[in-house]
Amino acid sequence: KGIAPLALVAVLLPAMHYFFWVLGTNAMDAGTDPLTRLANRRGLSRYVGGLSHSARTLSVIIIDIDGFKAINDTHGHQVGDLVLVRVAGRIMEACNRLAGIRNLVAARTGGEEFAVILDDDLRTARSLAERIRIGVAADTSPSVTVSVGISVTSPDVKANVDRLLEDADAAMYLAKRQGGNRVVVAPSNDHRPLARHARRERHDAISPQS
Ligand code: GH3
Ligand code: MG
Ligand code: MG
Repeated sequence: KGIAPLALVAVLLPAMHYFFWVLGTNAMDAGTDPLTRLANRRGLSRYVGGLSHSARTLSVIIIDIDGFKAINDTHGHQVGDLVLVRVAGRIMEACNRLAGIRNLVAARTGGEEFAVILDDDLRTARSLAERIRIGVAADTSPSVTVSVGISVTSPDVKANVDRLLEDADAAMYLAKRQGGNRVVVAPSNDHRPLARHARRERHDAISPQS
């Protein structure tokens, strides 16, 4: 008589475990870049969608590898992939080392482009960006550098994320034009009104998916 519940547990538990394992894996893979294990654009979007309107400050950091095409051309695509994984590792290390951050997401948003969105201020974002830049530059064979753009906002966080991404992207390109291997902060948009109607929509804008 005592066998039936036992059998139920013996069969049902592993079955449920497997079920949730499959679910969990799929859910994770949909938002994860398989090469670097960072979030992908979908994962980033999910994070943005979950942001609270009450978040005080939000910082966006865009990181783009300098001259990456030359790495592929010189050393081959496989070494290029390893460099991408290495840079992702430096980004994660820098994020993990930074104390006081309650909430952040690090993502690979394109071929050799990465983004970090954090619920913190410019001071923290700049420090994180510098750590990433220095960490990446310290690696050798082959050595690469990154251009980093930062954009920070205060309230009405959700409505501003696409704008922040654009501003951080522009700052990153400025860093690149200035020779790369540097961090540039976008001019503060704290006092700029959010002109919704005038906002340029990008195909790849990362808005919360409704
Ligand atoms: P810049 O300094 O202006 O950023 O130039 P760049 O060469 O870094 O950038 P560009 O956009 O010209 O080239 C990016 C290259 O990244 C081209 C593409 O083949 C390569 N790439 C994109 N995705 C991957 C990938 O998953 N693996 C590898 N190995 N290469 C990739
Ligand atoms: Mg590049
Ligand atoms: Mg690029």
